[in-house]
Amino acid sequence: VSDLTPELLSVAVETPRHTAVGTLLDYHHGQRLPAGTLVQVPLGRREVPGLVWDRPADPAPRPATVRAVAQVLDALPPLDADWRSLVDFAAAYYQRGVGELALAVLPPELRRLDATQLARRLGRLPAAADAAPAAPPRPLLNEEQQAALQALQAEVESAAAAGRAPAPLLLHGVTGSGKTEVYLHAAESVLAAGRQALVLVPEINLTPQLEARFAARFPGRVLVSLHSGLTPAQRLRHWLLAHLGRAELVLGTRLAVFASLPRLGLVVVDEEHDPSFKQQEGARYSARDLAVWRAHRQRVPVLLGSATPALETWQRVQEGRYRRLPLEQRIGGGAMPRVRLVDMGRLPRPGPGQERALAPALLAALHERLARGEQSLLLLNRRGYAPVLHCGACSWKSGCPHCSAWRVFHKGDRTLRCHHCGFTERVPRACPECGNLDIAPVGRGTEKLAEQLAQLLPGARIGRIDADTTRGVGRLAQELAAVHAGEVDVLVGTQMVAKGHDFRRITLVAAVNPDAALFSSDFRAPERLFALLMQAGGRAGRDAAQAAASEMWIQTWHPQHPLFAALARHDYAAFAAQQLAERRAAGMPPFAALALLRADARTPETAAGFLQAAQDAAAALPEAAGVTLYPPVPPPVARVADVERMQMLLESPSRAALQRLLTAWLPSLHALRAGHKGLLRWAVDVDPLAI
Ligand SMILES: [Zn+2]
Ligand SMILES: [Zn+2]
Repeated sequence: VSDLTPELLSVAVETPRHTAVGTLLDYHHGQRLPAGTLVQVPLGRREVPGLVWDRPADPAPRPATVRAVAQVLDALPPLDADWRSLVDFAAAYYQRGVGELALAVLPPELRRLDATQLARRLGRLPAAADAAPAAPPRPLLNEEQQAALQALQAEVESAAAAGRAPAPLLLHGVTGSGKTEVYLHAAESVLAAGRQALVLVPEINLTPQLEARFAARFPGRVLVSLHSGLTPAQRLRHWLLAHLGRAELVLGTRLAVFASLPRLGLVVVDEEHDPSFKQQEGARYSARDLAVWRAHRQRVPVLLGSATPALETWQRVQEGRYRRLPLEQRIGGGAMPRVRLVDMGRLPRPGPGQERALAPALLAALHERLARGEQSLLLLNRRGYAPVLHCGACSWKSGCPHCSAWRVFHKGDRTLRCHHCGFTERVPRACPECGNLDIAPVGRGTEKLAEQLAQLLPGARIGRIDADTTRGVGRLAQELAAVHAGEVDVLVGTQMVAKGHDFRRITLVAAVNPDAALFSSDFRAPERLFALLMQAGGRAGRDAAQAAASEMWIQTWHPQHPLFAALARHDYAAFAAQQLAERRAAGMPPFAALALLRADARTPETAAGFLQAAQDAAAALPEAAGVTLYPPVPPPVARVADVERMQMLLESPSRAALQRLLTAWLPSLHALRAGHKGLLRWAVDVDPLAI
């Protein structure tokens, strides 16, 4: 090697952006290496993994001497240009370092192996499947499904003829309308053409179900999953199979959007509206948005599936940039449940000292279901027994000493638990302030609702599914199995139960207290509530035999609210039109681009001081023209685990203008930080979900 001219290589290494070191660094090596090659390089006193990149190293500041590449892991084929451009784009858009992002989205195990270990792992992988056995018989498609697949095919062909990328396709259908069957057929033609399909789902819990369906449909094909629930060895194995092109189907959660797929032919994003597709730490990317970008760049079709599309997606349909493929019938003749709004304001007041969990009419409907041997689902998006304990004598409340939040009363283990920082204590016997023995829970969570139901429906088997009852491996699956086996008459649950699980015997779904989202300061709360209720309603009436009797009950103090009116008609389009009109008037997404700069510190003054200085720096830049900078404010829960949080919103009608400002401005914040002692961290969130 030594007699060759040393070549200068640009290597992406995992240094956070906005530190003193760049993210693309120069190294030398005895020969050229193709971009995308995995290497080990010295960085400071350590040896770190890196990827050879095809752009020059960051100009400044550069280390004084260029060091040599320590090891080349060339048993691994280089990551291809498509993958690198995805990483380049995501790093720039979400304002992270290229190396930081590139290495963070590789399987952690890959970064730890040396060349020998890697070669051994590669040798142990199964070969690609030979000719796949004949596919099992497939269910007949209904007209809408056929039309959707024909539209997909037509779009792919006309895009190819015009030399452009196919437009993203929104598969718009309620629960049970057969979206998965469309995915399966679309994947089938892609596989037949020798290409790979990528299917993204919002939650790990939903992968086994879908994986089983794909595996049954494509026997002999290599199918792998990618999500954070895999062991490091499994994740590496699955990733390698995808990267080598041997896995034909890759199914996974948001991190799978970064899978290396040399023969990508189709991208599917199921439940595309789901907030889980947004990463909430590190590089805060949206896997849905990156999936659309990736498909566009590689000119492959992307199918976005939802009953309640994100308003961003819906607006693009309105603008003609995405095409909508409707699935309006439920398979097997099921119908959407009849929606019944209970006006809580018109009920007689409960007697003194009593409280009403359920309206009498809803209770009667539950009794009917019980008598018929049918199941009911009660949705209450608040776990624990009561959100707060209160002393009537001195007004003490069960606040968290470390957070600006109440601690939740959990009756089962007699604890007060903070859902933000986890701080847990035994429930005091008396008021810690005044000694009053009569401290009482205020409000109601799932635990209390289940207890009340046991009293209201004697003899009924009450089940509960929330983050408390499903802690621990396999617990959720167990709880769900009990519901499927008919061991539960009435199921109480948080939004966890509304997602994806197929409960065939449920004929009544009730939202016990959904009003809070109507008046939330979070502008996306109504959108999420509508999606949740549509999804929960979709749990009922999937079987034609039961569809006629299926109902969705909503207990509300605001029965006239347009959200409920649209829900009662299962009219997503009307709801979306109303919300989009409000968003347009308020200059909110999708009519404006947003970014949040967050700062965490020991005191609110420090956090606010840093943000204010950052804002002054931004305002002085020419790129600030056309971008509105809002003053620093605390988020709804300002203090968590003794850390004070503040945030500052940036808004622009132009995404490009906002991006230009972020790119020009953020590097200067590293230097700015030094002047603010007590600042713990800062981060930027592009396209934040909540503000
Ligand atoms: Zn007291
Ligand atoms: Zn706390």
